[in-house]
Amino acid sequence: MKTYDVAVIGAGVFGAWTALQLARRGKSVALVEAYGAGHSRSSSGDESRIIRMGYGKDEIYTRWSQRSLAQWKELFAANGQALFHETGVLWLAGEDQKRLNETRATLRQCGVAFEDLNLASLRARFSQIGLDGIRSAILEPQSGVLMARRAVAATVMEAVRLGVTYVHALVEQPKARGPLRAIKTTSGQEISAGQFVFACGSWLAKLFPEVVGPRLFVTRQEVFYFGLPAGDSRFAPPALPTFLFQTDESYGMPDIESRGLKIALDAHGVAVDPDTQSRVVSEESAAKMRQYVAKRFPGLRDAPIAETRVCQYENTSNGDFFVDRHPEIGNVWFAGGGSGHGFKHGPALGEYVAGQTLGEVQPEPRFSLATKATVQQRAVF
Ligand SMILES: Cc1cc2nc3c(=O)[nH]c(=O)nc-3n(C[C@H](O)[C@H](O)[C@H](O)COP(=O)(O)OP(=O)(O)OC[C@H]3O[C@@H](n4cnc5c(N)ncnc54)[C@H](O)[C@@H]3O)c2cc1C
Repeated sequence: MKTYDVAVIGAGVFGAWTALQLARRGKSVALVEAYGAGHSRSSSGDESRIIRMGYGKDEIYTRWSQRSLAQWKELFAANGQALFHETGVLWLAGEDQKRLNETRATLRQCGVAFEDLNLASLRARFSQIGLDGIRSAILEPQSGVLMARRAVAATVMEAVRLGVTYVHALVEQPKARGPLRAIKTTSGQEISAGQFVFACGSWLAKLFPEVVGPRLFVTRQEVFYFGLPAGDSRFAPPALPTFLFQTDESYGMPDIESRGLKIALDAHGVAVDPDTQSRVVSEESAAKMRQYVAKRFPGLRDAPIAETRVCQYENTSNGDFFVDRHPEIGNVWFAGGGSGHGFKHGPALGEYVAGQTLGEVQPEPRFSLATKATVQQRAVF
C-alpha cells in the first residue's frame, strides 16, 4: 500500500487549498471527500462568497484576505475561469462607528485602498439603498465576490493536476491513541499517510465528538435570492456593490450571473446536523426577509424570491479559525472553524496548514485548540 506524505480529509475550501499548497511543496497527497468537492450540503457549496479586507482591528484576517485574493486571482487566471467579480464591498454603519473606525485604521495600516462615504455621498451614489439609521460607510473598491463551489472545484482540479490523488469515500472516525498509520473508509479501503489533516467543516464535531464536539457550534443559515424587475440594472454591478449592514447583521451582493440580489442574516441560527437538516427555508423566515428587503431595497418590495439556500456555519466560540494537532494523536490535525467568514481565506489557510504539518510555520495561538471555549462569545466577524 502506498504511504502518502499527507492525507487530507474533506474537499471543502479548507481541505482543497491544503491539498493544493502541499502539492505545490512537492508532497504526495491523498484528498478524501465523502460527497463531492463543494457539494450542496457543505459550507463551501453555495454559488458565491464575499471576499473583503475589512475585519475591524483583526489585522491577521485583513492580511490573510490580501494574500488570499492574490492567490485566488492567480488560480483563476491560470484556469481561464472568471470566478472573481470585483463588485466592491460597501460597509454601512449606524450610530456605533467603532468597528468601522477600527476597520479604517487596519486598512490604512495594511495598505488596502478604500473610500470614505458620508450620508450625503451615500444618498447621491446609492439611491436604491434604504439608508434609514445609517451614518457612514466605507467602500473597498477592489474586493468582491468569489464564485464559491466552482472555485473549490477549480482548486481541486489544480491539485489533481499537480499529482494529488482524489478519493471519493467516507472516512471513519480514527480510533488510534498513538500515531495514526492509516484511515479507513466505510467501503473498507485503507489510506496510509505520515500525517492526516481533517478539514471536515461542521462534520468535525461529529467525527471527534469528545475533543471538538463541545467546541464547534454548527448553526443553520438561510440565504435568499430576490428576482429583479425586468430591465432594471440598479441592483447589478457596477450600480450596486456587495454590501454589509453592520447594525442589522446582514449582508448580500448584487445580481451576479443573473441569480438576483443575494441577501442573508449573519446572526447565528439554530443548532443543526449538517447531514440531516432541512435545506428548505421556512415561510416565517421568508416573510421576515421580504420585510427586511423592503426596508433596505425599497425598489424590491414586491420582488419574488427566486432561489434559496440553507447552509451551516461551523462556528468556534469566538469566530477564530481552528487549526491544531489532535491532543492524543500527534500526526492528526484539525483545520476548520471557518465561522461564517472562512471561505475567502482558503489560500492563506491552506498555506498555514501546510506550513504547520511541515513544521515550517510558527503556530498562531488564536487558532489553537486551547483557545477554543465551550461557550460562544463571538468576537470575530
Ligand atoms: C450561508 C453562509 C455564508 C457564508 N458567507 C461567507 C462569505 O461571504 N465569505 C466568506 O469568506 N465565508 C463565508 N462563509 C463561510 C465559509 O463558507 C466557510 O467557513 C467555509 O466554506 C468552510 O469550509 P470548510 O472546508 O471548512 O468546510 P466544508 O465546505 O463544509 O467542507 C468540509 C468537507 O468535508 C467533507 N467531510 C466531512 N466529513 C468527512 C468524512 N468523514 N470523510 C470524507 N469527507 C468528509 C464534507 O463532505 C465537506 O465537503 C459562509 C458560510 C455560510 C454557511
